[in-house]
Amino acid sequence: MTGQAAGFEELRDLYQEVILDHGRKPRNHFRMEVFDASARGDNPMCGDRVELFLALADGHISKASFLGRGCAISQASASLLTELVPGLTPGEARAMGTRLREMAKTGVRDGSTPALERLSALSGVHEFPSRVKCATLAWHALDAALDGSKEASSE
Ligand code: ZN
Repeated sequence: MTGQAAGFEELRDLYQEVILDHGRKPRNHFRMEVFDASARGDNPMCGDRVELFLALADGHISKASFLGRGCAISQASASLLTELVPGLTPGEARAMGTRLREMAKTGVRDGSTPALERLSALSGVHEFPSRVKCATLAWHALDAALDGSKEASSE
């Protein structure tokens, strides 16, 4: 592998294949023209920004997209979010975010569903407490969007 930024080696274990893939080729990376909920998340410690857009239909999230910049972990997490939450109710989507936050803090992988299994790629951040916010930023934006706030706290 060539051309990686300094510091890549020590973070190598964080960058499992799913993170690298989504970090390089973020899915649903566009501003939705018509959306029902949106929020920005900001993680100044790392320079990550995410703006999330959600479309809702019949009590479910029907579509999700995002714009953002920042480290591979933050962008991969947002990309995964936009793939995983469509079809869920807002409550189910929040619950998924709660499980991700637990995995990111404890490192205990939850493979109880295929969606959580994919998200568990982000659990490696627990060894690097300053990166936990990178992994959870998009999910805080999800909560803020569903709450009707425009700005997410990264706390
Ligand atoms: Zn970051």
